Formats: sequence, C-alpha cells, structure tokens
Amino acid sequence: MSFTLHGLAVSQGIAIGHAHLVSHATLEVAHYTVRERDVPREIERLADAMATVRAELGALSTEAAAPGSPSELAALVNVHAMFLDDPMLAEAPKALIRERRCNAEWALVQQMELLVAQFNEIDDSYLRERKHDIVQVVERVLRALLGKPRKLTKKAGKDFEGALVIVAHDLSPADTIQFKNLKIAGFVTDLGGATSHTAIVARSLAIPAVVGLHHARPLVREDDLVIIDGTRGVLIVDPDPRVLEEYRLRKRELELERSKLKRLKTARATTLDNVDITLQANIELPQDVEQVREAGADGVGLFRTEFLFMNRDSLPSEDEQYEAYRQVAKSLAGKPLTIRTLDIGADKTARALAGTERQAPNPALGLRAIRYCLAEPQLFLAQLRAILRASHHGRVQILVPMLAHVTEIEQTLAMVEQAKWQLRERRCKFDEGIAVGGMIEIPAAALSLGAFVKRLQFLSIGTNDLIQYLLAIDRTDEAVAHLYDPLHPAVLRLIAQVIQAAQKAEMPVAVCGELAGDPKLTRLLLGMGLRQFSMHPTQLLEVKQQIVMADTEQLAAKVARILRCEEPDRIREQVERL
Ligand code: PEP
Ligand code: MG
Repeated sequence: MSFTLHGLAVSQGIAIGHAHLVSHATLEVAHYTVRERDVPREIERLADAMATVRAELGALSTEAAAPGSPSELAALVNVHAMFLDDPMLAEAPKALIRERRCNAEWALVQQMELLVAQFNEIDDSYLRERKHDIVQVVERVLRALLGKPRKLTKKAGKDFEGALVIVAHDLSPADTIQFKNLKIAGFVTDLGGATSHTAIVARSLAIPAVVGLHHARPLVREDDLVIIDGTRGVLIVDPDPRVLEEYRLRKRELELERSKLKRLKTARATTLDNVDITLQANIELPQDVEQVREAGADGVGLFRTEFLFMNRDSLPSEDEQYEAYRQVAKSLAGKPLTIRTLDIGADKTARALAGTERQAPNPALGLRAIRYCLAEPQLFLAQLRAILRASHHGRVQILVPMLAHVTEIEQTLAMVEQAKWQLRERRCKFDEGIAVGGMIEIPAAALSLGAFVKRLQFLSIGTNDLIQYLLAIDRTDEAVAHLYDPLHPAVLRLIAQVIQAAQKAEMPVAVCGELAGDPKLTRLLLGMGLRQFSMHPTQLLEVKQQIVMADTEQLAAKVARILRCEEPDRIREQVERL
C-alpha cells in the first residue's frame, strides 16, 4: 500500500530506489526468543562472532606493534581484547541465551547494559570511563553478528530502480561519510536536523536526503520501492504508477538542469556591476578535491579535518595527516587551502577518541573543537605540525573553530609557534608566514570582533553553529528544527555586522556555513557586502548563476532595508523579491 511521510528536506534532488534498512549499533538490535532446539546454534553464532572480533583485534595488535604506531592504539587493543575474553562478556550472555532463550544480540546488549551500570557506580573516574571500551567491544561483536550489510557496492543497478535508498533510525556523520565510497541513491532517517553534520555530508555527496521522518524505520520494509523528494522533504513508499512516472520525469528534468549549469564552470564569478566574488569549496576528505576541480572553485575555504579521525580505531598519525593535507594542497595547484583544525565533539564523534571524549551532559556546549584541542595539546600539536609541513606544498592557511575567548586565540597562536619550533628543530620545511584565521560561530565572538581582528589574519563565519547558539536551537534535534531560522532578524543583523566590521578593518571574511551554498540567499549575502563564499562543490554553480545576474550596489540598498525590519513575514517576502 502506498503511503507518504513528511520530514525535513536536507539535500535536494530526487532518488528512486529500493529501501535498505540499516541498524546502527546497539540502538536497534533485534529482540526475539529462540526455540529450545535452536539454543546451541544461537550460542555458536555468538561464539563465532566473538572469534571474528578476536581475529580483528589480533590484526590490529600487529598494526599497533609496527614502528611509528601511536602507543594509544596498543593500549586500546589490549583493553578491548581483555574485555572480550572476560567471562562477564564471553560467558554471561551465553547463559542468558541458555536460560532465557534470548537471541544472541539481545543477550549481549542486556549484559553490556548490566556492566555499564556497574561501571557507573565506580568512584574512580578512570575506571568508570572504561565502560566506553565495553560498549565498543560489544558494538564490534554486534557488527560481526549482523554480518556485512547487503551489497552496498559500486555496482548497484544502472537503472535507478535498482539503486539503494538507505532507511535508518539515525545516522551519525561518521556513518554517512562512508557512503562516499558506496553507490547510494539517497537516505532518510527518523531523527536529525537540517544543519546537522549528517545533513551536511548528504549535501556534499549530492544525494537526496530527508531527515526527521519519525516513523520511516519501523514502517518501511526491506526492498520496498521508495521515492525521496529531497526538495519537498517527502518519502513516498510503494508509489502508485502515476506518481512514479511523474517523479521519473522530474528526476530527468533536474539532471538536465544540472548539466546545463556546467556551462558556468569556467565563467568568472563577477556581478553585473563588475565586482569579483570568490567561490570556494567545503570538503570533508582528500578525495573531495576532485569535485572542487570539477566545480571550478577558487580553492578550499573549509577542510573539515575531523572526518579523517572517524571510522577507525586509532588516531591518524602526524605523517598520515601530513600526507592527506599535502595531497590536497598539491592538487589545488596554487589555489588556497584552508585547513580547519579538529572540530570534534557534539554530533561528530570518533571511536579513537572515545576514551578521552567525556560523555558531556550537553555536548554542543561542551568540550568540542578548539576547547578539546587545547585540552589535548599533544594531539593538537601533531595536527598543527602536519598542517605546517603541508604548507610547504601549496597555499595553506589554518582555520580555528569555536573560538569565543581571547585566551583561546592566544593559546592557539602559542601552540602554532610551538609546532613551528618543533619543526625547525627537525629541519622540516613549512611556510613561516602561514595565516591563522578564526571561525566566527559563537555569538560572543561576533559581538567582540575587535579582539579577533587584532590577533588573526582572516575570518570565516560558521553560520550553522552561529545560528544554533544565537537561537538556542540544537542543530541536530528535529523537534526544534522548525525554529532554526537563518532569516531571524537577530541572525541577519549579526552576520551583516561581522561582515561589515571585518571589511572596515580590511580583514578577509568568508561565510562557510550552509547559508553560503543556498542560492536563494546569495543575493542577500551579496547585499550585506559578502565577497567570499565557501560551500559544497555541488552547490557552487547554482550560486555562481545568481552572482552573475546580481548588482551589488542595488542589493546593498535593499538589504539595508531588510536589516531594519523586525517582522519575520516581511523579511521573508523581501528576501524572496531581492
Ligand atoms: C558552521 O558551524 O557553520 C561550520 C561551517 O562548521 P560545522 O558545520 O562543521 O560545524
Ligand atoms: Mg561549526
């Protein structure tokens, strides 16, 4: 039977394909009772999964023993292997299967919850935190039990009805980034906000996505034919033939429109009144640089380096990071590369840091980004050295996220100097004059810009977080997503104020949040005086199309009027008419 679900449109376009339901770790393990005669088989299934994980840990331990491997990896592997072999994990779930006839996954999760509860009672904070290791080991075994996901391979059918659409309760940014290597037509989730990093990754992959659907995961069945309308934020399950035909047509039209846009690739981004605009790209992984070139971007305005730290058990070493940054710097052939230092925390988590990342009561307000880096100086210094070394191979600059205090800027600059000293001692080459810039994404930074301008060499406005903190709306929470409003008068005024103050101080300023890539807002930003935009490469040509038809002088006058307005409906109306 056909039905439709409505959610938040986060990545445009239309996908038609077959649903593939994915479960994420412990959240959604199946709960069922096994028949008496199947109990031995269920115990064997668990034992096999544990053996698989033992072998995985064995391989990791060989990797950890190799010269140059971080010592944390060896420690982590040892702790995980120890837990895996402890009777509390190795035997107790088997007893649960035997006595209560639970399936293996359920037994394992019950035992994990019991152990986590016991660890929570421990006074010693170091020992208490070991509960994360238990959860990680259990997640490994669950993955082994669930087996490999169905063929999410590069050869999913040519005909789009053979394509796969991922349906999940929730996906972390770390899950979503893995789709870069798979042929996925689109995805939908029950949870999530429009500017969550999961949504951002979807846009960077240029695949349609809808989040905040609430009931997709329980209602959709494996293999159901589905349509994602990423523009309207709709999921249509088992569409009737007429609707399917309409969407096939619309999909082809959109593809045609996109291919026409390619003509703009080599055109200069110059307005009608001859103002040159810089259009740069946001990337998550080194391989994205290919798209940056295809879009004809003026370099990279934001490299979100935290994605290099995800989906792995150990941290990337200084050398590995250096290779990644060097590769991008070289491929940009003289165009600027803005490398943002590690912005981990909140919705962006990394397994390799799970032991040190606290379970914060309110992660978006917690020890994330620069706060985390300053608390972990060795990790930060290794990244700074890697970036500095890469600066010898291109036009690299350093961008620091989540700054709010002058002391944070000063400590960061001191760390950059320390990293330089360390490299001089090692006789490594780097750009001595490398520019260090700051993200303006906390209202306090926007409101005390003078201190930033004095100490930094460029600014980049992170509108995703700036709006989150200004309006007190968690960007990952679909329950308050309707209140996340880029056109709120306070948001517009604050962004305009930062752009204008930076320009007055002759300091380069860009916008690298999602606003920069929304063609419906290009004219508004131009009217505020913005001359540098950074966005997903896939959005660049649509934004350029707006720029070549714009007149900045006329826009400035109209936008000044919008900035004086306080009525949301009037603002929306005027922005649409710009
Ligand atoms: C932002 O906050 O606007 C930004 C660009 O950074 P991120 O989305 O990675 O938090
Ligand atoms: Mg941010």
